[in-house]
Amino acid sequence: MTTFLLFVLILVAAFASWSFARQKARQLRREAGLSDAERAIVADQVPLSRALPAPLRAGFEAQITDFLDQVDFIGCDGLEVTEEMRLSIAAQACLLVANSGTWYDTLRSVLVYPGAFRSRMKDHNGYVVTERMTVRTGESWSRGPVVLSWADTQAGADRPHDGHNVVFHEFAHQLDDLSGATDGMPDLAPGQDPAEWRHVFEEAYAQHLYRVENHRKTLFDPYGAEGPQEFFAVAVEAFFETPERIRDHAPEVYAQLSRFFALDPAEWAQPR
Ligand SMILES: [Zn+2]
Repeated sequence: MTTFLLFVLILVAAFASWSFARQKARQLRREAGLSDAERAIVADQVPLSRALPAPLRAGFEAQITDFLDQVDFIGCDGLEVTEEMRLSIAAQACLLVANSGTWYDTLRSVLVYPGAFRSRMKDHNGYVVTERMTVRTGESWSRGPVVLSWADTQAGADRPHDGHNVVFHEFAHQLDDLSGATDGMPDLAPGQDPAEWRHVFEEAYAQHLYRVENHRKTLFDPYGAEGPQEFFAVAVEAFFETPERIRDHAPEVYAQLSRFFALDPAEWAQPR
């Protein structure tokens, strides 16, 4: 019995010291922030991050180090995941939550393909379930992982004002999913009224559907017509990439997203 107790004590002590050392290392890394080289990669890979207001920068860098600590990057189809890829994806994901206090609690891995990848999709039609293969640039699974095409991830970051960003899109789904369902209704910011959000988004979605069905020009990516959850994801892309347009032409959507993210990208200096 004494030997057993001793064994348990040693195990507990070993675990405690391992977990303490791990926490300490994480804290040190967080305090150190990004190295100059890492900061330069982020600025180069993700031009939009340069527009983030100065008071938010330290927190943003701490989030990037947390993200890199928490998330494993897995290269697929022979892709070797580089430092640039890790930092680019982490920075784009963290830009969304740079000031909101929300975090990707359930995410543990990001899979990266060299380019667009084939994915199996299930279609439900009553009791009949059919499967088909489809080509995708990104995918977000409930409670992780996120799957990304590196070519599209890089192109999305390189063109910060075209309204398309696959990382923003897939991580918007991750944020939406934290509420328990990926349905376009995420857990809102403290004090934000869910009834008001629902009203604004239902109306904007209906308008978007009407315009897509009638082949009119749209403010948001037509793909948003696939469902309220996709409309939320494309609205997030537009909020960050074409903020002035959204603020001017869909002010209520802009106001809701601005409150949700606690950010006002229409006021950011434009990166060059
Ligand atoms: Zn989507």
